[in-house]
Amino acid sequence: MAEQAELTRPETSAKKLQTVNPATGEPGKFYDPHSIDDAKAAAKAARAAFLEWRRLSFEQRSAVLHKAADILRARETELARLMTEEMGKTLDDGRAETEKCAFQCNWFADHAAEYLADQPVDIGGAEAFVTFNPIGIVLAVMPWNFPLWQVFRAAAPALMAGNGMLLKHASNVPGSALAIEEVLHQAGVPKDLFRTLLLPSSEVEALIKDDNIAAVTLTGSVPAGRSVATAAASVLKKCVLELGGSDAYVVLEDADIEAAAKVAATARMVNGGQSCIAGKRFIVVRSIVEPFERAMVEAMRSYEMGDPTREGTKLGPMQSMKARDEIHRQVEDSIAKGARLLLGGSVPERTGAWYPATVLTNVLPGQPAHDEEVFGPVAAIIAADDEADAIRIANDSPFGLGSGVLTSDLDRGRRIASQELEAGLSFVNENVRSDPRTPFGGVKHSGFGRECSAYGIREFVNIKTVHVKPLEHANGSQVE
Ligand code: NAP
Repeated sequence: MAEQAELTRPETSAKKLQTVNPATGEPGKFYDPHSIDDAKAAAKAARAAFLEWRRLSFEQRSAVLHKAADILRARETELARLMTEEMGKTLDDGRAETEKCAFQCNWFADHAAEYLADQPVDIGGAEAFVTFNPIGIVLAVMPWNFPLWQVFRAAAPALMAGNGMLLKHASNVPGSALAIEEVLHQAGVPKDLFRTLLLPSSEVEALIKDDNIAAVTLTGSVPAGRSVATAAASVLKKCVLELGGSDAYVVLEDADIEAAAKVAATARMVNGGQSCIAGKRFIVVRSIVEPFERAMVEAMRSYEMGDPTREGTKLGPMQSMKARDEIHRQVEDSIAKGARLLLGGSVPERTGAWYPATVLTNVLPGQPAHDEEVFGPVAAIIAADDEADAIRIANDSPFGLGSGVLTSDLDRGRRIASQELEAGLSFVNENVRSDPRTPFGGVKHSGFGRECSAYGIREFVNIKTVHVKPLEHANGSQVE
């Protein structure tokens, strides 16, 4: 393998990055950022490393990914602690996230060969088959909310397909970004093939345009998606976008109300409400709105704010004071426009980025809780006349990531989930989650392309048609 490229860290040209612990407001470590020249040098070296990595067998790459899974499990508590310090995730959630990354590595290590096996096609006469070649270096632009999972979700299949990757992580999780690089290098991923770049988002466009970058995958907000897609389009490069969501759960009149509220609260409170697939809008058939409100308040009340490093804490801080203030603005603005506050809704007097579990009802169009993505622990209850009206409201959103149906009638739930809801994922009687075995992604402003499963690993490959025929049987065709 090629030697690791030297990435110089300019002392004067760029400001240092500093993390802040959102639970305490205390400043954390300083990190030296990379420059765009560093990033371009890394892209060139990654391309050279890719030319060797792509020739390894699936078995050889699989051994590296299995090792990465072992290292993740061995370092679980340390990695979880790092996430807690940088973005406030509870230690329990951080451990579970690290385990999920290990599972992802194992899954793609074991299934990439099957997902990318040649596919013979009977065209009568010549031998024909479809084969999947890696495409090169994928730039991964990632968010802070699942600092490890978002990266492994993209990296494990990309590496197993034979690609290389450069990671530009969110600016508030540089320690996590560097730890991921370290885990993969310890596992045997060639150093140049996967690099973390502590790069400002203003330099992403220039890096996308670099000739050594083949494609880009972004998980993040709609504005970031728009600018990454624009840059990729300007140089005709493939992109996958995993963007925001305002997931709707339709609560039907036949549902067990207590059980439905528990699923709804779980869906809302994933990662303190800071998840693209957190349930955000609970669209409830009017005849059961009042009992559902009561049950939802009880279910949400159980998410008490607490020290994220303590076992059993269900709600830690928000990722930053700025994010907390934005959530509070959305709540206050919704109330000013007619929403009714049932729980929470005030900023506690304590240092750090804290926001309590909050329930709003009478949520209507024109209110931020109805129209915008609220990225925090705020459940919005919206009344609907009946099933058809609930489906209409659920689909009346610019987003289409996850969705759910809460009902006692599984046939009804199956029909609504599979045929009616405009979303990339639709779950009946459970909260939406990603899984290495099933495709993950959205429609509308939630993005395009898929991660996970065979669909995900085939996003960043050249799907190539091959015909093989003896020369003496050649017969040209005049039609394209
Ligand atoms: P964000 O501001 O879009 O940041 C995500 C990443 O994009 C960061 O690395 C960020 O870098 C970078 N970035 C921001 N603006 C950019 C630009 N104009 N050009 C290129 N890169 C840019 O999103 P966030 O606030 O961190 O994350 C929350 C959002 O992500 C929510 O909308 C959430 O729903 C969505 N999300 C979606 C999924 C999914 O799978 N669909 C999963 C998780 C989160 P800097 O940090 O340096 O600005």
